[in-house]
Amino acid sequence: MILNTSKMKEGRHAYTFFGDRTPWVMDCVKEALGEVFRPGEESKVCFRFDLIKSCENITMDGVMKLVLHPECLRCLCVFETPLSLPVKTHLIPASEESEEGAVGELELEAGDVEFCFYRHHEIDLKKILREEMLLNIPDRFLCHLECKGLCPQCGANMNTDSCQCRSPAKDARFAPLEKLKLKS
Ligand SMILES: [Zn+2]
Ligand SMILES: [Zn+2]
Repeated sequence: MILNTSKMKEGRHAYTFFGDRTPWVMDCVKEALGEVFRPGEESKVCFRFDLIKSCENITMDGVMKLVLHPECLRCLCVFETPLSLPVKTHLIPASEESEEGAVGELELEAGDVEFCFYRHHEIDLKKILREEMLLNIPDRFLCHLECKGLCPQCGANMNTDSCQCRSPAKDARFAPLEKLKLKS
């Protein structure tokens, strides 16, 4: 999906793409997330952003919203979770000769601000979205912050099941200490 900016006026321009009507957005989701995204949830995918044009520099400020079905790191259950990923970058026009030098200069000045180059007034929305998703997707998911995980002995899900492996008198808050002892 290439957006041509040659006729874009200065200022802010809003864009919205819905997953169920936009195949290239869904291609990005599949490429970046794989099976964590469940087919059939396309209608809950929304990519919304503003482009703010100032001379030839364009700031992209947006959010990708979707619903995922990841596996919990601790209890291994698959759960549904909404996610909002920021999509923010600065787009700078590249000229053939100056690109190399400009990268160095901008990296020094810009610090951790993200930016990328565009050429011939063309912005590759699909490429930007895919890269931003890969950058901002959490590398692990918990079904909830207090997830108790699985019993290390019998594998029971400690959120929903009780097993006989631990005596009920033990305080769950000391569980991390017990693990330390086991390791040594
Ligand atoms: Zn869990
Ligand atoms: Zn157990």
